Amino acid sequence: MSNNSNKGRLIIFSAPSGAGKSSLIKEIIDLSPNKIELSISATTRDARDGELNGKDYFFISDEEFNDLKDRDAFIENANVHGFQYGTLKSFIDEKTEAGINIILDIDVQGFNQIKKLNVDNLSIFIIPPSFDELKNRLVLRGSDSDDAIENRLVNAKKELESAELFDYIVLNDNFNQTVKELGSIIFNIKHEYNKQDNLNILQDLLDK
Ligand code: 5GP
Repeated sequence: MSNNSNKGRLIIFSAPSGAGKSSLIKEIIDLSPNKIELSISATTRDARDGELNGKDYFFISDEEFNDLKDRDAFIENANVHGFQYGTLKSFIDEKTEAGINIILDIDVQGFNQIKKLNVDNLSIFIIPPSFDELKNRLVLRGSDSDDAIENRLVNAKKELESAELFDYIVLNDNFNQTVKELGSIIFNIKHEYNKQDNLNILQDLLDK
């Protein structure tokens, strides 16, 4: 990855829920030749089955979250699908100072806040091939109620409207192909990235 200091860099990933972002991030971290880790956010939502406090998220109460917010402890924070989420400044500073590149899996509101800060970042928006596919993936995941899935699909449309603000828009149709494309973007390997193709797919999604 190109970087003009020894400090780690922020790599921002956003996507509508169900676009496959978490699996892609996990694969990128597993394959990475560089020091690269996933940021652990704080959230007020409950842990899902199998999720661990301090590993997947810091699961905290609304009161604790608001207290951290008042103390300016977040680099960014947002209300997503009815819960609060935030990236801790202390976590980011410690890792980036140690030269570790940090992946932020955050929503578009958080991305917009980071964009306004003077921090080195690379931003990637993952798009699904279609809304039907997005819904299928959310249903198959089985972790959300029907209402939560409908809510996530409504939010998906809003998020897609911001995709063009990101440095890269990447289609997740074929998992292995997408991993290759992401790897070449993040690790600066020569690659063929056709923004126009992906913009056309994005436009189709927005027209539906
Ligand atoms: P989930 O509840 O499915 O883990 O995450 C829901 C959404 O919240 C995802 O789109 C994820 O990117 C976003 N999210 C997770 N952590 C943060 C955070 O720290 N800040 C912001 N702005 N969004 C987050």
